[in-house]
Amino acid sequence: MTRKINIAIDGYSSCGKGTLAKALAKELDYIFIDSGSMYRAVTLFFIENKIDFESDVQVQKALQEISLNFVYEAERDRYEIYLNGLNVESEVRDLRVAQKVSHVAKISAVRRKLVEMQQEIGREKGVVMDGRDIGTVVFPNAELKIFMVASDDVRAERRYLEMLNAGKDVSFEEVKQNLKERDLIDSQRSDSPLMMTEDYRILDNTDLTPQEQFHLALNWAKFATEN
Ligand code: C5P
Repeated sequence: MTRKINIAIDGYSSCGKGTLAKALAKELDYIFIDSGSMYRAVTLFFIENKIDFESDVQVQKALQEISLNFVYEAERDRYEIYLNGLNVESEVRDLRVAQKVSHVAKISAVRRKLVEMQQEIGREKGVVMDGRDIGTVVFPNAELKIFMVASDDVRAERRYLEMLNAGKDVSFEEVKQNLKERDLIDSQRSDSPLMMTEDYRILDNTDLTPQEQFHLALNWAKFATEN
């Protein structure tokens, strides 16, 4: 008999983590959680309420006013993020949010709140979660940990096309610069930096199609559920 497991997918920005996580969750009938959208939603709240990221008092107060939920949207067949009762799935992908999110994600109080929620979601297993610290901090005992990599140009191009398709008004250079900045901040912060430990399986998808990477990861997942 196969058992339910948690799958952690980490890596730099725009490596295709979400695409893979979503496909695996669908195939295995698991829940897919995009943890980045949670950091983005907190950032959106901070921007809209003009919270000074440097002020512990303001950050603490704001965190108490934030409620996040994932709600299943049948039309798009996915869970979407709600901030205080409003669907912000599209808004959190705006460049103005992307430009601030890594600064917000450095704040330990923010991480504590979100990690607690993420661990609660994964308590019963059957979750595929992607992010930066899922295999190291959120689910250190995840039965399968995947670390995704892809070349800088491929990543920038993917994110740029994704944003264009979503109707966002951005330039390729802005997108590329933003990825570079976030990768740097995310891997150098003191609290839960993005890092690869030896228990990850590395998936370099620079030259792989989404189908190829899916089949590779699905085999790892099957192996993990059977052992
Ligand atoms: O995954 P995505 O690119 O949407 O994440 C946006 C940002 O949220 C990352 O650049 C990072 O700063 C932060 N993040 C994080 N830990 C996670 C997921 C995202 O710090 N588990």
